Amino acid sequence: MNRLERLVRENIRALKPYSSARDEFSGSEGIFLDANENPFGTLNRYPDPYQKALKEKLSQLKDIPSKNIFIGNGSDEIIDLVFRIFCEPGTDKVITFPPTYGMYEVSAGINNVEVIRVKLTPDFQIDFEAFFQQMEQNKNIKIVFVCSPNNPTGNSIYNIEKLLEYNTIVVVDEAYIDFSERASLIEKLPEYPNLIVSQTFSKAFGLAAARVGVAYANESIVALLNKVKPPYNVSALNQKAALEMLENYSLVQDRIRLILNEKEQLINQLSELDEVIKIYPSDANFLLVEFKNANEIYENLVNHNIIVRNRNSSIKNCIRITVGSAEENSQLINTLKNYKL
Ligand code: PMP
Repeated sequence: MNRLERLVRENIRALKPYSSARDEFSGSEGIFLDANENPFGTLNRYPDPYQKALKEKLSQLKDIPSKNIFIGNGSDEIIDLVFRIFCEPGTDKVITFPPTYGMYEVSAGINNVEVIRVKLTPDFQIDFEAFFQQMEQNKNIKIVFVCSPNNPTGNSIYNIEKLLEYNTIVVVDEAYIDFSERASLIEKLPEYPNLIVSQTFSKAFGLAAARVGVAYANESIVALLNKVKPPYNVSALNQKAALEMLENYSLVQDRIRLILNEKEQLINQLSELDEVIKIYPSDANFLLVEFKNANEIYENLVNHNIIVRNRNSSIKNCIRITVGSAEENSQLINTLKNYKL
């Protein structure tokens, strides 16, 4: 057994996966009387369980072989599948770096897995000393989750490679990477068989409603993800929506540019407001903003039907603001300007 196989739960190693009716005939022509489908209609057939067309297109765009790509029902599904593959409920542990994306913790709870929280430093970077200590003190740490650019802080995390030297799976959540100028960790995949890079169509590709997430990983990890996923986890409609966006990639790039321009303007306008204390550096499509009194600001915005994310409970007086359209952003700014008038 190699190092990676040793990290996998015993029952998953032994699992005989569900074999769907169409597995070996995926994409071929014929009279299909094998899956108890209805012969009438337009959405009557099960979708391609391995999303071949979508993976081929992604493979070209990212310059990475299809065999290193897994598609999930949103990247939230990928997070949950990774727990189920590697973490024995009640025994195994994971590390997170809060403040960070909330689903690692929720998925851990669902799977009855203990979370060790290694707090980010005041400038929201990894406290490697504390991380090393936890790695030494704890057995059974199976997964390390790191989010870069990080939600809700917005900054990129440095030196992630250092985490990869350990005998654990490292999930690098790059949901916001398309808004950043920094390189994706995808380029490190050939070096690190324990690395899973997760991305999504929900943000820069504008397809949050479609639920399409992507994991890039070593072939054996992709095989494990395929083994545990529900047979038809990504609907035909969702595959089609994602494929269309990839075929229209220049539109995606135009929209990213627009959002980043809006972000610059929003930063300028926010920084002129008396109520704003600090705008944290962001490589994403949102800003973490410290106000004099976040709760009051939040309530006031909600009263004007402007919904932002109050993060005061985890980062004092901070609100996370998504960059919207020009019109939405100017309404936000006007409402903030009129505050207390
Ligand atoms: N990771 C991060 C860091 C996120 O912020 C989000 C969405 N808020 C997700 C993953 C989930 O994305 P998806 O829509 O692909 O499930």
